[in-house]
Amino acid sequence: MSRILVTGAAGFVGSHLCEALIEGGHEVLAMDNLVTGRAGNLDEIFYHDRFTFHEHDVTEFVHVSGELDWVIHLASLASPVFYSDYPIKTLKVGALGTHKTLGLAKEKDASYLFASTSEVYGDPEVNPQPESYRGNVDSYGPRSCYDESKRYGESLLRAYRDEHDIDVRIARIFNTYGPRMRLDDGRVIPTFVRQALNGEDLTVHGDGSQTRSFCYVSDLIGGFDRLMESDVQTPVNVGNPDERTILSLAELVIDLTDSESDITHEPLPPQDPQVRKPDIGKAKSELGWEPTVPLEEGLERSIEYFESVM
Ligand code: NAD
Ligand code: UDP
Repeated sequence: MSRILVTGAAGFVGSHLCEALIEGGHEVLAMDNLVTGRAGNLDEIFYHDRFTFHEHDVTEFVHVSGELDWVIHLASLASPVFYSDYPIKTLKVGALGTHKTLGLAKEKDASYLFASTSEVYGDPEVNPQPESYRGNVDSYGPRSCYDESKRYGESLLRAYRDEHDIDVRIARIFNTYGPRMRLDDGRVIPTFVRQALNGEDLTVHGDGSQTRSFCYVSDLIGGFDRLMESDVQTPVNVGNPDERTILSLAELVIDLTDSESDITHEPLPPQDPQVRKPDIGKAKSELGWEPTVPLEEGLERSIEYFESVM
């Protein structure tokens, strides 16, 4: 059994991860400032005797008592709509929040897992993206608060590994979806499902030819597990390589919800990446991991959840 601090625990990914860690027999210290997360996401485990919740902003000094085996840093603004609304908070949580929690890991001699992102590749000029691709990010662009905070976070991990011998892991997460995403967070799957269930037009940005590759949340959690068990201290892509256009995603959501909705087109946000697909060769060969949940199945499970909260 390990004693594990999870930041961003009340968010979408964090709540699923905490449940899996409790299920795995670990003790979980969950931390979140609830800026976008909700304590209700943790209802299933909130009163478990191996679970505690700490409402705290990780950009401030972070202290927990007792020993720690792992720090898993998920706290961030994660949706383009939210991080555009709060660019300073986004930069702070990726920079200061990563620094504070790495300091804690050093103090406790704990291993450290960082939730990085496919956005470190920006608007990629190669498709699919292997970990060796260095990216195409505009440091003064509209998404830079997020992209650069994560790139800086990766750099901090590298520095703490080299200077302080911290045992680090970096998951470059590609678009992940599932139950407990906020219906109002602006990310494409909850937005399309909400619109389809309400009989509203689905708002496809641009002509919808841009692509994303969607990973169901249980697959991502399985990837974290393999990464923590491994000794891979360099970045690993964790995502599903099943690449779809956004227009075909809209059509699929209409189909799966039996909706009468139409599709309308809205302007493509500036610097919206044109393609995104993970090369998961490294995850397969070094972690023995690959996703197993097909998009149609993951969407059905997600639609069921979204219906229950609307
Ligand atoms: P989310 O918004 O649901 O969860 C993030 C959580 O972090 C929220 O509960 C929020 O309240 C918390 N948080 C933000 N700032 C904080 C702070 N200063 N102190 C404490 N808590 C803070 O997002 P998610 O989709 O669950 O993403 C989890 C992590 O995975 C994030 O780091 C995100 O960047 C990364 N990621 C997610 C995806 C995805 O598709 N879901 C893709 C790439 C990377
Ligand atoms: N998108 C869309 N309509 C929406 C919301 C998003 O067409 O109502 C598009 C968005 O422009 C992008 C893709 O869907 O091309 C994925 O967007 P999301 O915000 O989920 O994440 P991103 O991959 O851009 O970080």
